Amino acid sequence: MGRLFAVEIVYRGIFQKKLAANLSRAIVLAAHREGKPGISFGRYGDSPERNGIPAKYFAIVATDELTLEEGKAKYEPKEVDVSICVDDTLFKGVESWAWYGLQPINKLLKPGGTLIVTSLKEPEELIPMAHRKETPFQLAIVKGSTSFSGLWVYKDDHTDVRILGAIAKVLPELFSLASVQQVIRDEWKTELKATSAQRSFERLQTVTVTPDQGNPVEPYKFEMPNWMEMREGIAIPGIPLGGKMKDPVTGEEGGWKPGRNAVFKKWATRTMRPVVDFETCIKCTLCWLQCPDSCFDVTPDGFYDANLEACCGCGVCEAVCPVAGCVTMVNEVQFKDNASQWEEWRKDKSGYQVHLAAWIKDRPQRSHGFHHRGQYQEELPAEFARQG
Ligand code: SF4
Ligand code: SF4
Repeated sequence: MGRLFAVEIVYRGIFQKKLAANLSRAIVLAAHREGKPGISFGRYGDSPERNGIPAKYFAIVATDELTLEEGKAKYEPKEVDVSICVDDTLFKGVESWAWYGLQPINKLLKPGGTLIVTSLKEPEELIPMAHRKETPFQLAIVKGSTSFSGLWVYKDDHTDVRILGAIAKVLPELFSLASVQQVIRDEWKTELKATSAQRSFERLQTVTVTPDQGNPVEPYKFEMPNWMEMREGIAIPGIPLGGKMKDPVTGEEGGWKPGRNAVFKKWATRTMRPVVDFETCIKCTLCWLQCPDSCFDVTPDGFYDANLEACCGCGVCEAVCPVAGCVTMVNEVQFKDNASQWEEWRKDKSGYQVHLAAWIKDRPQRSHGFHHRGQYQEELPAEFARQG
């Protein structure tokens, strides 16, 4: 039996669908140039996909047809040689349509496999975000901002070819730099992108992540009912009623925390989260009314606290808030947990204001959203400067 290679691409639905599909296709084409057959397929994309919901593409390649048949006989690979993460906020975990619970970003990696991520962060900032893994793995960072686009547009910031160059470096048995460069020339008809792949290949550095590094918290999971426990027909349980909130300082009970889906939390959908300045909030209720996912908890003192287990990061609350700077969307990588902002503010108001100022200091431009023709072309020079 020959050798089977598997690569997964973990991406955000809609915003990165074409990026993931392009990567998966080019991986198979590059291997094919070297006589290795393969297939590329998407998983966990709803139809239509939902904005930001984590999803996966897989590329499976083998040294011969029979081995590929064996690989194809499985629904999907149980382990992969390379995981590609095209948004570093997914380092916190992946909650997809396809399973209950949170999957660590490194879960499918073989011992010693490589996790390639596009990020402007350093390894020491990224490693604590990912869950611990029992076996060591390699981490490779392709320097750049997260590449997002829309359903009908593609942001050609070279993320695709830079990742392809990185794969040639970390797994040369899959395909060589020369092979993937030829695919890039054939597919994209530009020498510039072939050069970008080469620069990524030459610059890529990897670090080893050991089992004692990373987030030690066990990711949440749920027991699936076995067939004896399933009810007849299709039964969708309603969301349970919520309950009152408790003021952490006075102990007073009041307000309302709505019941929420216990087995699909949604926060892994988010690349940005809202942070609220309770000192300037005028309790107008607009964020609470307009949040498409009913994410706001109503506090006993009449404020609106974005529940960060449930928030999918759409940004509507920031858009509708009538007070300038009262709700600000900030990048998700700054946060270690989903704790209540209101509780933190109630316990230590001046300390909260210090945190708030730090969170909104480096407010990035909106990470996704296409507003006008030519927008991406305008953004590209700054992105190429960030990539160095
Ligand atoms: S970003 Fe705001 S409006 Fe959107 S889901 Fe989160 S809390 Fe609701
Ligand atoms: S929209 Fe702004 S001002 Fe109004 S309740 Fe929400 S946070 Fe407060």
